[in-house]
Amino acid sequence: MKLFFLGTAGGRTVTFKRIRNSGGILLKEGKTLIHIDPGPGAFVNFFSTPYEPWRDLNGIVLSHLHLDHSAEVNTMIESATESGKRRGVKLLAPKDALEGETRVVLPYSQRLVDSEIISEGSEHKIGDILVKTLHRHTHHGVEVYTLLFEGEEKRVVYIPCGKFEERWIEYLPLNADAMIFNSTFYRKRPNIDHLSVPDVIEILQKVKPKMAIITHYSLEMLKANPLKVAKEIENKTDVKTVAAQDLKLVEV
Ligand SMILES: [Zn+2]
Ligand SMILES: [Zn+2]
Repeated sequence: MKLFFLGTAGGRTVTFKRIRNSGGILLKEGKTLIHIDPGPGAFVNFFSTPYEPWRDLNGIVLSHLHLDHSAEVNTMIESATESGKRRGVKLLAPKDALEGETRVVLPYSQRLVDSEIISEGSEHKIGDILVKTLHRHTHHGVEVYTLLFEGEEKRVVYIPCGKFEERWIEYLPLNADAMIFNSTFYRKRPNIDHLSVPDVIEILQKVKPKMAIITHYSLEMLKANPLKVAKEIENKTDVKTVAAQDLKLVEV
């Protein structure tokens, strides 16, 4: 499985002052290509990859509605569907991203794709990849879910933004091929609903994936140097840990 990180920014400052790129992650296995969390810059950054949305993209997944994850979802739908001519593109998103006052996907864009609502325990198919919604997060009042992507060969878990809770451990699979963490902070910040490095270490010690990937860096994390932080995590957990970089591929 290939994971192409369009951007690695996390939080308002790093994203919206463009200290790092953003735009989400492309996940590719076999013929299936999925765009996860198309935040600001998703469309332009997509063209730094070997893929074309209207030829290759099978589906888009929103972990939650916050703009650093969803700002360009409408643009990506327009491009992937050739403005509605190419049918069968999937969109997976929580209910509050699709409906009501909080919606971020335009009703017009929703008509161009096959949308499915994700909720705790729901299962979905995009191309040849099975997407399972594992557990809900506490994250500033919006719906967020941890997602498991199961291809024929590899299983990758994506843990998006949220405050770490003990109960996550019972939902997380053992021995996944990789686990992607939106580990925004280096130190624990009890009043902010985001993952920190001590949370990542605790999870890795308990569920032992074959590889961990950290991303979604705040300013505090960038000051700590993600490359050094990855080494520190690896030393404490014995799990190979990679610090994602903008426009770089990670092979799982
Ligand atoms: Zn968020
Ligand atoms: Zn975020």
